[in-house]
Amino acid sequence: MSACLIHDMKNQVAVKAVVKDLVCGMDVETATAAGHSEHKGHTYYFCGVSCKQKFDLNPEQYFDKSSAPAKTCCGCCS
Ligand SMILES: [Zn+2]
Repeated sequence: MSACLIHDMKNQVAVKAVVKDLVCGMDVETATAAGHSEHKGHTYYFCGVSCKQKFDLNPEQYFDKSSAPAKTCCGCCS
């Protein structure tokens, strides 16, 4: 148990979070996303300002397309 705390922190920062832009379907890195919006407690990221604006105008329409992204687990651990 002599773990280097700073080393651990660096490892966390180094992890790249890639999420899907719900508007155009592109993969977007959260660190470099052009914009993001909060919706029902979740944060969504977008490749560009225009995608964010489209989402903000009518967020619900982008959830109807995809199949239930709200699940946090594959179901194996329930
Ligand atoms: Zn986009």
